[in-house]
Amino acid sequence: MKLLIANGYLIDPSQGVNGGKDLLIEDGRVVGLPNRSDAAPEDTEVFDATGLVIAPGFIDLHVHLREPGQEYKETIATGAAAAVAGGWTTICAMPNTDPVNDSPAVTRFVIEQSERAHLANVFPIGALTKGSAGKELSEMGEMKNAGIVAVSDDGRPVPTAAMMRRAMEYARGFDLTVVDHCQDPSLSAGAVMHEGRWSVILGLKGMPAAAEEVDAIRDCILARLTGARAHLAHVSTRGALDAVRQAKEIGLRVTCEVAPHHWTLTDEAVSEYDTNAKMNPPLRSPDHVGALLEGLRDGTVDAIATDHAPHHSDEKALEFDQAPFGITGLETAVGLAFDLVHQGVINLQRLVELCSINPARVFSLADRGTLRPNAWGDVTILDPDFQWTFDAARSRSKSRNTPFNKRSFQGAAVASIVKGQIVYLHPEFARISESKHTAGSAK
Ligand SMILES: [Zn+2]
Repeated sequence: MKLLIANGYLIDPSQGVNGGKDLLIEDGRVVGLPNRSDAAPEDTEVFDATGLVIAPGFIDLHVHLREPGQEYKETIATGAAAAVAGGWTTICAMPNTDPVNDSPAVTRFVIEQSERAHLANVFPIGALTKGSAGKELSEMGEMKNAGIVAVSDDGRPVPTAAMMRRAMEYARGFDLTVVDHCQDPSLSAGAVMHEGRWSVILGLKGMPAAAEEVDAIRDCILARLTGARAHLAHVSTRGALDAVRQAKEIGLRVTCEVAPHHWTLTDEAVSEYDTNAKMNPPLRSPDHVGALLEGLRDGTVDAIATDHAPHHSDEKALEFDQAPFGITGLETAVGLAFDLVHQGVINLQRLVELCSINPARVFSLADRGTLRPNAWGDVTILDPDFQWTFDAARSRSKSRNTPFNKRSFQGAAVASIVKGQIVYLHPEFARISESKHTAGSAK
């Protein structure tokens, strides 16, 4: 099984490659970047990537797949289908399922289901504490042997500094990154949106930026104390980002991710009480959004992660106060990232870094996020100018809770390749690529 991706523009920050290059994959692994003048080896499938960008397969560090326990919202198979349709060849699944992934049995179940679906790679994240209850540390070593790539109690903030310290000390022994949803519950209890002008106007209880920042600074201090690897999930405030920037300056092993909705929308989106504008952390005010754009540009932000959080429409149809937090995001993230490129916030190479080599480093995912020889043949193929409109009704996800329905984009992932196999090809692109091919052969 050989696949040659020919005539494209290849960006691989891990090798400093940024130019016209072909890519050869055999038996699921990268062979290398052959010379264009060389004839394709025999029995090779050729993917014509004329006009397209070839990048290491994109890695999403933060998704919620709902299986086991809430399969009516999403299954591992439907989540993986949405992932590859959005350009993500690898997704990391948070443990807040039912049961919680705090055991090797659940870890193995998630991996087996993803292998059955045969779409994206799905890497489970194990719970930090048993049942994510914040009381007793989980069996991190056993779960690591079963296949987890990090530990987190995402959605259930670790309640005390003492518990986080112990978790970091324990995780460090297994070289596991600790992922924290930074939020001090004593500052955020009962809140449903960002605390600011709009929460006052709408009469909704707000959570202050400080709720996130207090925990972000706590985690940086504890990363210094323990030497652990700490990754701050979905950073949404200026102060949390400043904490990460300072931690990096003094050499701590602290990283962070930002979610597309946090740099795209502000808390004004809540003004119609649209529950698809309700997520946690909440949409923030323009000053915080400006800080995120700065962090994406200057390198403080390590990764783009979706925080894909599917919910059933009946649940999202509740009143704003009652509806659950979270939106889907796998199929719109790359389009929203291209907005940053077209607006001049970041260039295309930085987009690729934020979605491939950097997330691979954050969780130490060996042979991913790179197209070096012998790396896994995971590839995301991008068309920076592709014009398209997102139709939630046609989403691969089981859920439709998105604020980006009917939004138009310039730029998309048009194909996803996992271990050398094309697991997704955009239908519109398939037509164009065929007509290109026909035009070529007619000459
Ligand atoms: Zn979270």
